[in-house]
Amino acid sequence: MSFDTDVLVVGGGILGCCVAYFLARDGVDVVVIDRHDLNHQASGSNAGSLHVQMESARANRTDPAYVAAIDRSLFVFAEGVKAWQRLAPELDRDVELRISGGLMVAETEAELRGLEAKTERERAQGLEVDVITATEVRAVAPYLSERVIGAAYCPQEGKINPAIATPSLVRAAERLGARFRRQCELVALSPETRGFTATTRQGAIRCHRVVNAAGAWANAVTEMVGVHLPTSRRPLHMNVTETTTPLVGHLLQHASRRLTLKQAEAGNVLIGGAWPAGLHAITGEATVLRATTESNLWVATHLIPALGHLRLMRTWTAFNIIVEDANPILGKVPRVPGFYMAVPANSGYTNGPIYGQLVAEAVRGRDPSFDISGFSIERFSERPS
Ligand SMILES: Cc1cc2nc3c(=O)[nH]c(=O)nc-3n(C[C@H](O)[C@H](O)[C@H](O)COP(=O)(O)OP(=O)(O)OC[C@H]3O[C@@H](n4cnc5c(N)ncnc54)[C@H](O)[C@@H]3O)c2cc1C
Repeated sequence: MSFDTDVLVVGGGILGCCVAYFLARDGVDVVVIDRHDLNHQASGSNAGSLHVQMESARANRTDPAYVAAIDRSLFVFAEGVKAWQRLAPELDRDVELRISGGLMVAETEAELRGLEAKTERERAQGLEVDVITATEVRAVAPYLSERVIGAAYCPQEGKINPAIATPSLVRAAERLGARFRRQCELVALSPETRGFTATTRQGAIRCHRVVNAAGAWANAVTEMVGVHLPTSRRPLHMNVTETTTPLVGHLLQHASRRLTLKQAEAGNVLIGGAWPAGLHAITGEATVLRATTESNLWVATHLIPALGHLRLMRTWTAFNIIVEDANPILGKVPRVPGFYMAVPANSGYTNGPIYGQLVAEAVRGRDPSFDISGFSIERFSERPS
């Protein structure tokens, strides 16, 4: 059997592109295929927040197994930002990586107590997060409403521009020898004695190893090798305003309402926070919901009244993967030798480079830079049925 490549990466989002970059940097022959264009799905449609703090939806869950799983993975978010900081200087453009700190704000005493409990858990895992008073909030973020009575502040958080960063990374990977094929959908995958034959819309590709970086569609790829992945996908909503003068310096979140907000380098304000989008009854595509748009903008203007003067320029939607324990799925699939997972859970853009590095290490058979045993696909089969 002759091979077209050593490693075939399925999916040209941030995860697939990062895996390819790190493999190519080690001299590995790698091909990335995507059924659309590169950076076309979640990676090119996300908010560009670099998250370190737990989002409130995760922080406010109390079931012990979930809490334990989350706490085990907290360290990785700080490592994710550091990995972007290492990567950015190697790229050919300013990817608008700015680490200017993040605030998760509280409006009630109960929310403040919740932030204190969250911060304690985060600090126990080595994250830099502090609860600050209303006076301290006013001093660093005068743009916030008087309603804010305190916040969790994390200096490690920030933002990046995914529309610049992923294409820059692709060019860097290409310079190292990685190859990318657009409009190349994987439709079947056959494990063979020494590798795989991948059937794509552009013909067959023979390879030694496969990395599944198909994002919200990763479960369809694992089904091709007889492995069930208990993930689903959720359509999410985003908004962007017209440009304005520098107003918001931080990544902003709320202790109990859905909100992520930041001002892009160009001056537009990006407003999201995992608000739901709709699903088109016939095409299955994600659609904009008016109620979501209005509610998301209400939360934003409630906290930053000055935003009420800006025009909304655009709304859009994209699919995010849902993993029930909110942890990524990384590394080998023992039942299918040569098959690897590179699947994020929450904040997958923040963690793209660190997950890419960890998966590339697994593909190379190296010891991982961090303990990723909790991120193994095997955790799903270990549970009693
Ligand atoms: C609206 C929204 C806002 C978000 N905001 C943030 C944020 O601010 N910060 C943050 O850190 N994270 C954010 N996220 C999450 C983040 O965007 C994702 O976790 C991350 O981009 C996922 O990257 P990926 O490479 O795994 O998946 P994707 O970017 O979805 O890439 C997967 C690729 O696989 C391809 N593919 C699928 N099936 C096949 C097949 N059979 N053959 C070939 N190709 C295939 C798809 O076409 C796609 O291009 C957000 C997500 C959404 C939806």
